Amino acid sequence: MKIVLLGPPGAGKGTQAARLEKEFGFKRISVGDMLRKHAAEGMELGMKIKSFIDRGELVPDEIIFELVEKELAHENIIFDGIPRNINQARVLDELLARRQEGIDAAVLISVPESELIRRLTARRVCGDCWEPYNLITKPPKTEGRCDICGGMLYQREDDTEETTRHRLAVYREVTEPLIEFYSEKGALVIIRGIGDPDDIYLELKRALGL
Ligand code: AMP
Repeated sequence: MKIVLLGPPGAGKGTQAARLEKEFGFKRISVGDMLRKHAAEGMELGMKIKSFIDRGELVPDEIIFELVEKELAHENIIFDGIPRNINQARVLDELLARRQEGIDAAVLISVPESELIRRLTARRVCGDCWEPYNLITKPPKTEGRCDICGGMLYQREDDTEETTRHRLAVYREVTEPLIEFYSEKGALVIIRGIGDPDDIYLELKRALGL
């Protein structure tokens, strides 16, 4: 099964994808995490990637597919953060078609914009295992420390209010058209992304028939 999680930054894609990964053993392809790992290594490609992320711009498609293509050999995958534009959706379809596969469902996690800004600026992530936290909706048990591995939590540089607003503008302009793209294919499912993350997860599983 191949599932795309769609939704604006801060919709909770990472949190929900991590749950599906844990409960059902899906391979989670989180492009944002892959890019941040490269950026943290500080090599030439990483520095280039970091400059796009820090400005809230999308990283060029060629770089994205160089990283993602080699991850496709899994039966059950959740695509978290890809596709981010129509070209990526088409290329992803082509790569999967070569393997006689395709996207089974695209789930849009729908959240109003005012809520997204509130959430993104409260977001933290573990620097060691990348577990996501939110000071409002999912605070760690011990301040500044990961519940799972004890690593230090930090705020992403692109979660500041100014960059957040720009990321949302990029989302509206180039990512939102994917809603129609998957709707036309009959693959779109919409769930509400506000409220208790446990309830959202139940709705997600119901939407996917899991
Ligand atoms: P995310 O963790 O999914 O919010 O992604 C953080 C940043 O990584 C984005 O703002 C982009 O700069 C970059 N990024 C993540 N996924 C993609 C993608 N599929 N295409 C281009 N850039 C991406």
